[in-house]
Order: sequence, then structure tokens, then C-alpha cells
Amino acid sequence: MKRLITLLLLSLSISFAQLRVATTYPWIGELVKDVGGDKISLYVIAKPTEDFHFVVPKPSHIAKLRNVDLLIINGASLEIGFLPPLIQQSNNPKIQPGRKGLLDLSSFVDLIEKPAVVSREMGDVHPEGNPHYHLNPHHIPLLAKAIKERMCELDQTNCGYYTSRLEDFLKRWSQKLKEWDEGFSNLKDLKVVQYHKTYNYLFKHYGIQIVGTLEPLPGIPPTARHLEELSKVAKGAKFVVYEVFRDSKPANNLAKVIGARAIVLPHDVGVEGVKNLFDLFDVILERLSQ
Ligand SMILES: [Zn+2]
Repeated sequence: MKRLITLLLLSLSISFAQLRVATTYPWIGELVKDVGGDKISLYVIAKPTEDFHFVVPKPSHIAKLRNVDLLIINGASLEIGFLPPLIQQSNNPKIQPGRKGLLDLSSFVDLIEKPAVVSREMGDVHPEGNPHYHLNPHHIPLLAKAIKERMCELDQTNCGYYTSRLEDFLKRWSQKLKEWDEGFSNLKDLKVVQYHKTYNYLFKHYGIQIVGTLEPLPGIPPTARHLEELSKVAKGAKFVVYEVFRDSKPANNLAKVIGARAIVLPHDVGVEGVKNLFDLFDVILERLSQ
């Protein structure tokens, strides 16, 4: 009898065992939830209000990473400043580089702006190219598929479930893509200044003109001299856009000088007004269309 109960408990714990997934950023977590539903547990390292380049590493992150089956990252060196020590100190063999439990999403899209050479004078340039590829809505299906594939590999029992959830997600996404394609194409030739090269994938895809960045170089905060030079070349820009975690002053000052409007654009899920990935592009479109 005792053996029977043990067996029963064991089989129960197996059927209820969830795939334990961690992601570096909230938007990756959203894809994991969309595909994984109630068959996964999720831990997200970065807060949506944190600068994605400078997430603060904490002992609590290490403790969580110790027990996950899969860690999904943005890659393209975006997490270089905080993730390698977290992975190492987690002592979790499953998520070490080269293992199936570490999934780098940057390898599933074509990165733009890959520098021919990288030197310190170029600022905080990422050698693989611009890492902010998630802000092109056409990339999202590729990333969702990659996540589903890896979850299927690690958890074959629930592969059918993941596959049908992915199909449902892709159907809803492709409907919205038509809407976004139409909406953003109305913004073709709109001129914008952005704080950092965060929205290049989106703007370049839809022909929105980037007339300058507030940062003189990636990762270098705006200087008075750079803003003065920018004010000469950025005339005609309708918006100066920045992310929630930036200082709003340089954007507002430049906007005043060139007669533009300074607006915050969401960059991830969890910032104001953005509850999921669909909202992310809806809100960007809405704010740029005002
Ligand atoms: Zn960046």
C-alpha cells in the first residue's frame, strides 16, 4: 500500500512538473507564457523599468537560476554587463554556455548595424550588431517558434500543447501585423530623434527617418555640445523619443529648441500601458500617430 501511494505521488509529481524557465527580459517572458501556458513556471530577471544594458545583478537572481531548466536570453552582447557572473555563480550545469538549457534568441534574426571594427572610441557598441531586434514586430514569430522548439526538446511530453499554443499565438499575431503594417506605413518619412538606437529595427523597417540620437555615442549620455549640434541637423523632427528609464530633460530641451514633442515610447512589456506584447506595438503606433 505504502509503495502504491509512493508510486502514485511520484506519477502525480511527474505529470504536474513544470518546465522551469527564466528569461532576462519581460518581453521574452511574455513569449514563454504565450507558448508555455500553465506547463511552465517563469522567472524574469530584469524589471521593465531598468535600463536593459545595465540590469542590477542580485543574489536572488543567482538563487533562481540555480533551479531552472531553461534560460532564454536576448543575446548579441546586450546582457554582457550582468549575466555571465549570474550564470556562472548559479552553478547550474543546464544553463551553461553551449548547453540546451541556454537559448540565445539573437541567433534567429538578422542583426543590423554590425560594426566592421569595434574600438573604445565608438562608445558602448555591440560587436554583433544592434541588439534591440525585438522591436520589429516581424521578428516576434521567429522568436516564438524558436522558443517553442527548445521547449519541445526539453519537455517532449508537452510538445503538442506548446505547438497548439504557438499556432494560436501566431494566428493572433499575424492579424495584428496587418494592422501594424498599415498603421506604421502611414508614418513613412516621419522624422524622429531618439535617445539611443533602441528603435532602429522598427523605424528602419517602416521607413521612419531617424535624424539623430541624443547620445553622442551609444551608452554615452547627451552633452550640451552634442545637443547644440543636433539642434541644427534635427530640424523638422516631429518627435524626440526616449525610454522610461532615461532622464527626460535632454529630450525636452532639444524638443523645445527644434519645435518637436518629447515623448516616452515603451520598449518592453510592463511599462505603463503595456500589459503584453500586442500592447507594446499598439502603444508605440498610437504615440507616434498623435
Ligand atoms: Zn543598446
